[in-house]
Amino acid sequence: MIEVDGLRKAFGENEILKGIDLQIRQGEKVVIIGPSGSGKSTLLRCLNFLEIPTGGTVKVHGEYFVKPGGKFDEKHVASLRTEVGMVFQRFNLFPTMTALENVMAAQMKIRKKSREAARETAEKYLRKVGLAERMNHYPGQLSGGQQQRVAIARALAMEPKAMLFDEATSALDPELVGEVLNVIRELAREGMTMVIVTHEMRFAEEVGDTIIFMDQGVIVEEGPPKEFFHNPKHDRTRSFIQKVE
Ligand code: ADP
Ligand code: MG
Repeated sequence: MIEVDGLRKAFGENEILKGIDLQIRQGEKVVIIGPSGSGKSTLLRCLNFLEIPTGGTVKVHGEYFVKPGGKFDEKHVASLRTEVGMVFQRFNLFPTMTALENVMAAQMKIRKKSREAARETAEKYLRKVGLAERMNHYPGQLSGGQQQRVAIARALAMEPKAMLFDEATSALDPELVGEVLNVIRELAREGMTMVIVTHEMRFAEEVGDTIIFMDQGVIVEEGPPKEFFHNPKHDRTRSFIQKVE
């Protein structure tokens, strides 16, 4: 479903991703862990074409997201980008719009949906993330966990083929982490294809089909969760897991 081949990304002289190969099957949950600065966010941003790679290719559903040589068509990219939903550490909701309006906005602007159709879809996904009673609240009237669930509903409302979560719970107070993880868990159960960057090791082990450890712009180790967490092959993986847990 997503195929990454020799992906490189440099900012000026500084090469952040140094040749990433990654295959993600339909319905697969890939969890990426690794120290701060290892390139996890940059990798996700390349999967969603928020960053333009400096080398290698990304294919989604057999279609080139990024063509060899780095040429691309802006319009095509904009439409492909909506196939992959992304949720960030910071929720970035529009503060002057209600939860409902926040979830409706991109559907109308990018998907060109009518107000009525966008509202129907928005209500459906807000209910799904447990916010049926909060649709008409403004972000400032919602907890961090509720705001992040609005952000997830907003991404889902575009009906993407895959979802990327970049430390979706890192900015939350500890008591609000669980409600957001529950929503991600539920999506996993329903078979959504997902790439999840997290520091929640227990969650990673529970939800991941494949765990990837990144360090300094490369994939150091990857494997099924049991093996990865209980019998890591590399010293760097082992010491990272011990430090985080
Ligand atoms: P992680 O998510 O694993 O913490 P990032 O992908 O955010 O790592 O960052 C990896 C490195 O790339 C960091 O050293 C960061 O400073 C650098 N970096 C990320 N984005 C940019 C950018 N737009 N310009 C320059 N450097 C960047
Ligand atoms: Mg990051």
